[in-house]
Amino acid sequence: MADLVDRVAIVTGGSRGIGRATSLALARAGATVIACARNAERLSSLSAEASDQRSIGKIVTRTLDVTDSTKIEKWVDDIATDFGRIDILVNNAGITRDGLVMNMSDEQFDEVIATNLRGVFQMTRAVSKYMVRARWGRIVNLTSISGIMGNAGQANYSASKAGVIGLTKSVAKELSRRGVTCNAVAPGFINTDMTNVLSEKVKEQVRPLIPLQRFGEPDEVAAAIAFLSSPASSYITGQVIVVDGGLHM
Ligand code: NAP
Repeated sequence: MADLVDRVAIVTGGSRGIGRATSLALARAGATVIACARNAERLSSLSAEASDQRSIGKIVTRTLDVTDSTKIEKWVDDIATDFGRIDILVNNAGITRDGLVMNMSDEQFDEVIATNLRGVFQMTRAVSKYMVRARWGRIVNLTSISGIMGNAGQANYSASKAGVIGLTKSVAKELSRRGVTCNAVAPGFINTDMTNVLSEKVKEQVRPLIPLQRFGEPDEVAAAIAFLSSPASSYITGQVIVVDGGLHM
């Protein structure tokens, strides 16, 4: 599908895992994708990978730390100046700092909220003025089934991801009259660096609980994000699309 030709998309956390697969999927659909992350080295092969896949669109990489609240607005304004428009924002950057709540430090809590929730808010605030002006936009936020179900050892992460759901619905209500939709995608267990830290024992315990009997792949989440970023999702807003092999139902 080439339904994103002439669209400009920002993907945060675009260097690895779900964000990388999403950047490539949006470029294949024709978009000019600005993929960002903190580490420039991990971003560096992304543009070449998009050309190798003979994408109609392209990927440009720029570093950004979404917790750096002093830089976000100017970073976004520079994208709008350099590329002329911003049509799509995928708020994908996310981290875990797991621990039981009685042992969790303030730093562990704050770091996760700053990345997974405040970063989403600040990126959305900075980008939305361009979408409102254009009367068209797609915002897709990465939440998690932990934000719906809770998860022992992830009070900080679950709180941040539940916060993303509330933020998504509020933004959807605020911006709907201006042609901007805002939805969330909630993955279950997906094979990325984030879940590679789980021991084989834990993975063996989780797998039978998933109706589809396996962890998902980043491309399978990227497909849902690409749909919500496209004109085809025009009558969907404020929703949470769960991509988890049936784990939460
Ligand atoms: P991942 O493989 O760990 O990749 C995370 C990406 O975010 C990397 O590109 C990382 O690059 C970037 N990042 C982290 N902190 C950042 C910051 N402060 N500023 C900018 N970029 C930052 O993660 P993933 O598994 O693909 O997860 C992607 C999203 O899906 C996250 O929001 C995660 O919570 C959510 N999710 C994942 C799963 C799963 O099973 N994998 C399940 C549910 C939800 P740098 O380190 O270079 O910055």
